[in-house]
Amino acid sequence: MTAGTTGTGAGTGTGTESPWTPDKAWYREVLADQPGYRLDQIWHGLYRLGVPPSEQTNLPKHLRAELAERVAPVLSPVVERSADDGRTAKWLWALPDGERIESVLMHYRDRSTVCVSSQAGCAMGCGFCATGQAGYRRNLSVGEILEQVVAARRATPGGRLNVVFMGMGEPLANYDRLIESLHRIIADLEIGARHVTVSTVGLVPQMLRLADEGLQIGLALSLHAARDDLRTELVPINRRHPIDELVAACQLFRERTGRRVSLEWAMIDGTNDADRDADELAVVALAARAHVNLIPLNPTPGWPTVGTPQDRIGAFVDRLRDRGVRVTVRDNRGTDIDAACGQLAAATTVDLGPKPARRDPS
Ligand code: SAH
Ligand code: SF4
Repeated sequence: MTAGTTGTGAGTGTGTESPWTPDKAWYREVLADQPGYRLDQIWHGLYRLGVPPSEQTNLPKHLRAELAERVAPVLSPVVERSADDGRTAKWLWALPDGERIESVLMHYRDRSTVCVSSQAGCAMGCGFCATGQAGYRRNLSVGEILEQVVAARRATPGGRLNVVFMGMGEPLANYDRLIESLHRIIADLEIGARHVTVSTVGLVPQMLRLADEGLQIGLALSLHAARDDLRTELVPINRRHPIDELVAACQLFRERTGRRVSLEWAMIDGTNDADRDADELAVVALAARAHVNLIPLNPTPGWPTVGTPQDRIGAFVDRLRDRGVRVTVRDNRGTDIDAACGQLAAATTVDLGPKPARRDPS
């Protein structure tokens, strides 16, 4: 192994190199004195199987040990919990500086979807969201984002994996690291761009930039209200980027990428679920040429209002369909382990002790 090489492209921002994040050029340099097939072998282990070099038992012991000295995971599992008969799993991770984040893995019949965090906390302050209630801590590094996907890959060997940036944080507020992560997810993990979705609260300048990145990813816009006064109440950043700007950004995204934006709408009882709201949403969805995704609001500690009852959701769906809007209602997963949309707060009472990582025995 070549000595004295420093990590390139790791972008961890924490001073810790990760087994996943150094790019291929880094590994190529480090493995310069190794047989040619080594790089492919390690790469396959890392990204197809999700196994760090220190655990790749087909490597010579000394190489495993040397690599383990150079690269260490940046995510330490604190607790892993499952729900829905094992079809939903939530990880609580500790970061090198002690911050905590969560990711959720959901298994479906023909695929799995991992919901990843892009920030520790969030600065956007949407009142109905547990992450927003907890406030902003910091941006995640590329390594911290990628390792969440690699952990999901390890848990779904050989299966189709989709990635959604719908965990903690606002991905477009961590723009450069998001873009690098997307390129790495597509190139290194070989997950097609069409199987990756970024969800945003509506940061218009970044949405416009994203449209021109040449990435065929999906974009979800968390709309929740289709008139500015109500949306500003629910999603304070609306004051800066009101609905007409959002519609224009969705139109441009579709023109540039050929991909329809989906509008996310958490249905909040008595707040945004009246006929009037459906009519306003229909106008916006048709103008934005967007698909609508309804999610019954999930309970969070800091928000008193509950989700819309099923029958009202049905009426809302019918009203949208009557107006020509394409609409789906999202399957709600993991509510009993606080793993559903908007419930991620990385709160735990588990004592980490002096060691950085340990798995909860449950
Ligand atoms: N910050 C980004 C992505 C993370 S939030 C965004 O806001 O889009 C992922 C999704 O969960 C968003 O659509 C968000 O509006 C939604 N969400 C937040 N709190 C929720 C709650 N309590 N119930 C249901 N959905 C919620
Ligand atoms: Fe942040 Fe999204 Fe939660 Fe709003 S809904 S506080 S943008 S994570």
